[in-house]
Amino acid sequence: MDANSLGDDLARILVTEAELKTRLAELARAIEADYSADEPPLLVGVLKGAVMVMADLARELRFHAEMDWMAVSSYGASTKSSGVVRILKDLDTEIAGRDVLIVEDIIDSGLTLSWLQENLASRGARSVRICTMLRKPDAAKVEVDVAYVGFDIPTDFVVGYGLDYAERYRNLRDVAVLAEHVYAE
Ligand code: 5GP
Ligand code: MG
Ligand code: MG
Repeated sequence: MDANSLGDDLARILVTEAELKTRLAELARAIEADYSADEPPLLVGVLKGAVMVMADLARELRFHAEMDWMAVSSYGASTKSSGVVRILKDLDTEIAGRDVLIVEDIIDSGLTLSWLQENLASRGARSVRICTMLRKPDAAKVEVDVAYVGFDIPTDFVVGYGLDYAERYRNLRDVAVLAEHVYAE
């Protein structure tokens, strides 16, 4: 879906489809340089937001990209992460001894990801790195080491490229700030 199809739902476009594509290729080159094609990392996507990043990153990579998925939910108030995480869908893959690359749409507080990174490390993964397309400044508050970041963005609530508001806008091609009247409706 293009921004044009959304009338006045969007306040502004933050990152265009073309910018996402260009940056993703750069991230893929950096990832290829850090791993060997003989032992490529297992890509772990966090549902549902990471679906678009995963699809694009996996196809951009010049080595075999095995993919698995987790679904997690954080307890507590809906707008802020509490840091207490519940696994709704676990990996199908045994990761002991393997290199794991978590693929995420966005890091806000970083609480979900720091929990996830620790959880996967405790299963005996050889390494657990994080790749996120977007990162908000708040992420700096929690100690989470993010190896690959697409774009640092302001604290505004954004949608598109997998990110939703009430399950909508995930299929928007760009990343955009939602207009305030949409929340009010
Ligand atoms: P945190 O890093 O705070 O633990 O939580 C990250 C999760 O919160 C993301 O995976 C995403 O689901 C959600 N989130 C954080 N910021 C935004 C945003 O600006 N827009 C949308 N749609 N979701 C967000
Ligand atoms: Mg996510
Ligand atoms: Mg959401």
